[in-house]
Amino acid sequence: MKILVTGGSGLVGKSIETIKNNYKDYEFIFISSKDCDLLNFDKTNTLFENIKPDFVIHLAAYVGGLFKNMNHKVDMYEKNVLINMNVLKCCHNHNVIKVVSCLSTCVFPDKVTYPIDEKMLHTGEPHNSNYGYAYAKRMLDIQSKLYRDQYNDNFICVIPTNIYGEHDNYSLEDGHVIPSLIHQCYLSKQNNKPFVVKGSGKPLRQFIYSKNLAELILWSLLEYNKSENIILSVGENDETSIREVAIEISKAFNYENNIIFDTQYSDGQYKKTSNNSLLMKYNKKYVFTNLEEGIKNSVDWFKENYFNCRK
Ligand code: NAP
Ligand code: GDP
Repeated sequence: MKILVTGGSGLVGKSIETIKNNYKDYEFIFISSKDCDLLNFDKTNTLFENIKPDFVIHLAAYVGGLFKNMNHKVDMYEKNVLINMNVLKCCHNHNVIKVVSCLSTCVFPDKVTYPIDEKMLHTGEPHNSNYGYAYAKRMLDIQSKLYRDQYNDNFICVIPTNIYGEHDNYSLEDGHVIPSLIHQCYLSKQNNKPFVVKGSGKPLRQFIYSKNLAELILWSLLEYNKSENIILSVGENDETSIREVAIEISKAFNYENNIIFDTQYSDGQYKKTSNNSLLMKYNKKYVFTNLEEGIKNSVDWFKENYFNCRK
């Protein structure tokens, strides 16, 4: 059985690649934009004709941290809608048995009661900072539901919280908070300058290590047999402030003094506390990597791969 992984060169795709040998009955095919531009329907269709996948893990997306979302709202909407439209249409036309696509906890409504659960996805507007990305992801949920309703296709969506790990995008401008701050701290230490963190440091986030997410996505594909969306996140008690994350990163670099919070930058959404009880109901024994260990691994990887990694 063949599993096609779109977005195979990204943070999550690379993590799935590192654990693929645990799934010996399956042949994995990882694709990046260089193998096929999923913005183009004909190229996407040809890819599916050639590979004939049985399963698809659909990760490919135009992704970035708060500042990329704020600066590229049109692309965040249009590119993601196009990619998702082409991929799901081809999954249907080529009789894919099951598709797992990725939403994100940042696409939930801004004004909600906490903790957020799976049923709240469409109950209010998203935060203005990621309006384009959020609506594109919500349409991926709608498109999957419509294929389920009209054709009985087994197209489901998982909802990961903030992800980090090896092979992330370590760009200072466009990356998510953990990879950007790892890069920032690396440079600060090299130049003996203050470690500048954007915003107040007060916002709260739940972070999942990419290897944990890789395992949970494969579990969602091969063992979770419901059609309901499922939040893939650490628990509410593991919510962490950006300040704590910055301190953890500075410890991993052994560069602990001199952290500055630059409040000229946006804080984005204050929090998006998500409830992972559906996941813990169906996957009771799952144990998450703690943030300290995950950050340490990411920092070590970044240092070793500084010259070749995405940044
Ligand atoms: P990532 O590291 O930015 O990787 C994005 C992947 O998408 C890359 O493999 C990229 O290929 C591919 N891609 C982009 N445009 C493409 C195109 N036009 N045609 C074909 N492939 C294209 O993303 P990630 O962080 O692994 O995210 C994986 C999924 O999780 C996404 O759906 C994202 O929305 C979701 N998610 C991410 C986070 C997070 O914190 N990172 C949180 C929640 C949900 P190239 O390498 O060739 O560019
Ligand atoms: P979000 O969870 O979707 O908002 O995405 P991010 O991973 O970009 O996290 C944004 C939070 O981290 C905001 O509170 C930012 O102010 C804060 N932050 C601090 N420094 C940085 C940085 O260098 N890059 C990013 N993306 N966010 C930062």
